[in-house]
Amino acid sequence: MVRDGVATVSNGTDLAACDESDAADTQPLAEEAAVVTPTREVRTISPSSCGDFQRCPQLFKYRHDQPTPDMVRGTALHAVLNDLYELPRANRTVEAVQDAFRAMWARERAAQWNAHLFAEPSAEREWGLKALQLLENYFYLEEPAAQDPLWREKRLHVEFGDAGGAPSVAMNVTGILDRLDRGADGQLAVVDYKTGKAPTLKYSPAVNERIIREKFQQLKIYALLAQRVHGEMPRRLVLLYLDGPARLTMEVEPSILDETERELWQTWHDIQRALATQHFPPRTSRLCDWCSFKPICPAFKS
Ligand code: SF4
Repeated sequence: MVRDGVATVSNGTDLAACDESDAADTQPLAEEAAVVTPTREVRTISPSSCGDFQRCPQLFKYRHDQPTPDMVRGTALHAVLNDLYELPRANRTVEAVQDAFRAMWARERAAQWNAHLFAEPSAEREWGLKALQLLENYFYLEEPAAQDPLWREKRLHVEFGDAGGAPSVAMNVTGILDRLDRGADGQLAVVDYKTGKAPTLKYSPAVNERIIREKFQQLKIYALLAQRVHGEMPRRLVLLYLDGPARLTMEVEPSILDETERELWQTWHDIQRALATQHFPPRTSRLCDWCSFKPICPAFKS
């Protein structure tokens, strides 16, 4: 049921909105919270934490303390899409995955951390309807009845040796990979669900290139982890934007993963410094207008 015309970036979404959308694409919250506990003893980071820190250190700090409705929806959609592949192929339908979401939310909505998520019932209803639409959109991107991923929601942990920077410690990187697929060409592909809006590449070539680079940053780290764990280098990165819908792909060369490891070390040392000093400076940009934490961000307090 993959339809024509969705294998490219969709139109009509502005740059800032697409970056705001990334807030929804979190890994399970409990794990992320553990990763960024503000202590000098932190020795593990995740690909999403790296992305947050590179975008804005203050956002990095907030993101894990205060889940937003978008973040909770992103986590829930990742879970039901994972469960979808537990079903026999013939049962992997839109109705099945939407029913799974309804059942999951019926269980989860009473949880303590969800208690104050919505100001009023209409907000929760709108949130839920959007989730159902995103699940339907998924079927425009892929045909789950025609494939069986190699890995799903796979926890990856890699300890990198000291690269000579300060502080002199090993770098532990942990993350949960949405999927690793074996393509029809025999190559491995790292696949990531994005529940936020797809980017539009309507800017200058240089800006568009920067957008693409940023969008694939986390997936490059996952490709690096997958290579270390699996022993085979993924050759393709795939971003599936449910809110579009749109598919973005990038081919992987060995030099890309070498560069990714160097950047990872740099971010690792920056994070260690920030945690040691408890200094998470806000990095303002036009994207702040779409940041969920702007109302409490010190950069915007008068
Ligand atoms: S509003 Fe801007 S500076 Fe403040 S946390 Fe969000 S992205 Fe960072």
